[in-house]
Amino acid sequence: MNPNPKLKGQSALVTGANSGIGKAVAIALANDGANVVVNYVTHPEAAQQVVDEIKANGGVAIALMADVSNEAQVQSMFRDMFAAFGTIDILVNNAGLQKDSAFQDMSLADWQTVININLTGQFLCAREAVREFLRRGVVPERSVAAGKIICMSSVHEVIPWGGHVNYATSKGGIMMLMKSMAQELAPKRIRVNSIGPGAIQTPINRSAWDTPEALNSLLTLIPYNRIGQPEDIGKLAAWLASDESDYITGTTVFCDGGMTLYPGFSTNG
Ligand code: NAD
Repeated sequence: MNPNPKLKGQSALVTGANSGIGKAVAIALANDGANVVVNYVTHPEAAQQVVDEIKANGGVAIALMADVSNEAQVQSMFRDMFAAFGTIDILVNNAGLQKDSAFQDMSLADWQTVININLTGQFLCAREAVREFLRRGVVPERSVAAGKIICMSSVHEVIPWGGHVNYATSKGGIMMLMKSMAQELAPKRIRVNSIGPGAIQTPINRSAWDTPEALNSLLTLIPYNRIGQPEDIGKLAAWLASDESDYITGTTVFCDGGMTLYPGFSTNG
């Protein structure tokens, strides 16, 4: 554990934390002293592995199952979290998936699955967290804010993405969910921000990096010329959740090696 933990005594919930970015965020928050709920919907053994890794490093964590798009399961997860840790200080709305297809072939079911999990899931979890932040208020020994919410968005909240219209729409929606919540809740000392990852090496985008040809093609979109790692996002999330970023609310921090710099224009387009 970090010898000077900046989230000491705080409680955090990370959705979709048994894989990829969520796993790295859960480990980073625990490393900075937070008690962490590792949410999962499938693969309980992978969630237990994250809990075990955090505990082996001197941290505190539990695994809780919930489908973030299911209101009753989300509410039950928050009840279980409060029974275990008392309250919530930090929510990281990370769970998400892709169901890709050409627009004309996109089924209503695939559209709704992506919107329900990526967007409505963030609403359902944020609402439960905000209810608790408002009930409890600021606890100065832990944080100068009453609560912090970090939404896992994407560069695709601003970069259109053909073949992935449902996914890009969900991320555009997250941007206005985050900004509108931030505006409404700032007077209550609740901070709401997003992280916009570029290409991070996780199972969600394996086909974009698992052959040298695919990786080389991907790197043409990344001026910094390396694929991102989940730990790049973990470190940023721990900072955004801490009082070191106390004056930041209502913004997306892109963590993308320059992907949003439109590298196609670097030689005059
Ligand atoms: P991943 O597939 O490794 O992880 C996604 C996680 O979400 C998994 O744990 C999965 O089980 C969970 N999940 C899916 N549906 C769920 C549900 N209904 N309820 C609870 N959990 C559910 O992929 P990742 O790359 O780690 O993605 C994490 C987040 O980061 C997603 O929101 C994704 O859109 C976003 N993101 C990823 C990248 C990237 O390049 N990897 C880029 C931009 C944004």
